[in-house]
Amino acid sequence: MGQSLAKQSGPEIPLPPPYHGIHVAPVQMGHQKINWLKPAARSDRVRVRRHTCECKATIYELCHSGGLVFIRRTIRGPERLDVHETERLISVRMEVLWNRLLLGEAR
Ligand SMILES: [Zn+2]
Repeated sequence: MGQSLAKQSGPEIPLPPPYHGIHVAPVQMGHQKINWLKPAARSDRVRVRRHTCECKATIYELCHSGGLVFIRRTIRGPERLDVHETERLISVRMEVLWNRLLLGEAR
C-alpha cells in the first residue's frame, strides 16, 4: 500500500522511521465529515486489521466484526480515552473510507 511517512503534522514522539506506522495526512479542504458514533456495546469479537501510528494522540483502527467493517477513533486525552466508531459497512465500502481518512479527504 502506498502509505506516506513523509506527511507529518503535530507534535509527535521522536522515533526512528522504521518504528512508525501509518500517519494520517493533514485534513483537506472540503473533506468528507465522518459521522462518529458512540461505540456500540456489542459482544461480538472485533479484529483490528489496520491501525495508524501509535505516536499520535489520535489513533484510527480499521476493525472487522461479524462480516462488517468499521473505523474506530481513539483520542488519548490526559485523563481518559475518547472512543468513537463509524457505522458498520461491508468491507469494500469501508476500505474506501479508510483510504480517504488516511489521505485527509475524510475525517
Ligand atoms: Zn508515528
